[in-house]
Amino acid sequence: MPTATGSVPSTAVGAGEEVAAGTVLLGRYELGGLLGRGASAKVYLARDLLTGRSVAIKSFPNPRGGGCEDGRRLVAIEREAAILRRLRHRHVVRLHEILATRKKVHFVLDLAAGGELFSLVDASGRMTEDLARHYFRQLISAVRYCHARGVYHRDIKPENLLLDEAGDLKVADFGLGAVADGNLCHTLCGTPAYVAPEILSRKGYDPAKVDIWSCGVVLFVLAAGYLPFNDASLVNMYRKIYAGKFRCPSWFSPALRGLVRRILDPNPDTRIDTAGILSHPWFCDSASDDELARLMRGHEEEAWFKPEFKEDMARAMTAFDILTFSPGSDLSGLFGAGPGKERVFVSEPAGTVLSRVEDAGRKEGYRVRREGKRGTGPVYVEEESGGIVAKVSVFKLADTVSVVEVVKGDGAEAVLFWKDRLEPAVKPPALN
Ligand code: ADP
Ligand code: MG
Repeated sequence: MPTATGSVPSTAVGAGEEVAAGTVLLGRYELGGLLGRGASAKVYLARDLLTGRSVAIKSFPNPRGGGCEDGRRLVAIEREAAILRRLRHRHVVRLHEILATRKKVHFVLDLAAGGELFSLVDASGRMTEDLARHYFRQLISAVRYCHARGVYHRDIKPENLLLDEAGDLKVADFGLGAVADGNLCHTLCGTPAYVAPEILSRKGYDPAKVDIWSCGVVLFVLAAGYLPFNDASLVNMYRKIYAGKFRCPSWFSPALRGLVRRILDPNPDTRIDTAGILSHPWFCDSASDDELARLMRGHEEEAWFKPEFKEDMARAMTAFDILTFSPGSDLSGLFGAGPGKERVFVSEPAGTVLSRVEDAGRKEGYRVRREGKRGTGPVYVEEESGGIVAKVSVFKLADTVSVVEVVKGDGAEAVLFWKDRLEPAVKPPALN
């Protein structure tokens, strides 16, 4: 079996730049149909011509292609490769090798032939508690293994939980690949419903606890058939997440309710950890100690694990955190901000932010007007003619966290005003 190669090669190593069915990559892998697509890559079915085995090939645009290097993309792909190379677990999709052409970087992966875990829900959108427990155990087995190796998935959600041909769980997509082009928000945000409250609170967070939270949301959805936190308004949805406000359906057993409450605890300090989950009555149910121990042992080989890895990871995580989770970073994607709209998380009182917005508007010679009871906003920044340059509102999510929403006016002036004056004004001063 080929071993995973090192870093992303910088030169073309063969033919097959266009990824089309029937293409043979580097004389070795014959591509079939598209299996899925994510924010960063497309995933194809392929056949290994040497062994006849089916594999999945995750193809990224080559960040070193096209003449100039895309550093952020490169960091993200290298990171995903570094993580996958170090994970060998029954319930984690395994990386076999990396190939590159001028235009693409291809990860050759275990094929998860069974599709998505969610294909197993019944007509009412859920599964029995027993089946949910079966897969939740496999998920926790994988997550615990990753955490023990300093790897945090940070994007656990249904699309990333796949099944192999035997119907066993395979955790996929350790990419957060969207980080590379500044789009982490897309990766996380496709499903804001799975994001732990502390991610947004700008105080730093323990990635292990964040993963546990997402596992809790997945468990809830599997057994309930709907999301624990949901609202037509994303701001309201986040309020519910912050408050840990959800209701278990009537058919949840008391033990399941107990466990879900312990996982979806908005306070990461008191939230249950994997050790706690392992000894929880619902998780253990009728399994013998031996069975549970076997389940939790899931790794196939230990030899791969190199001591230098931890140091490696620490570096990668730092770069990653700077790119994506620095305080005041634009998490707009989490709220699905579209063109003409920006959203920034802050921990200052609304009045302080809105006063800076007013100053910024006046400095540029615009008229400013604050509405709302007791000056709570929104603030309108307008041209003399009355045309709107920006409307800025602040929504409180929790005591220390608010989201500033900026709706930009049409036209180049509004865009410039956002860039030069408004963005620095809404972000916390320390960051400018
Ligand atoms: P991204 O990082 O862009 O989100 P993913 O790794 O999540 O990409 O892959 C995108 C989709 O492709 C997945 O949601 C899944 O449907 C499919 N997929 C990914 N890996 C595999 C695999 N090993 N086997 C089968 N399908 C896969
Ligand atoms: Mg994905």
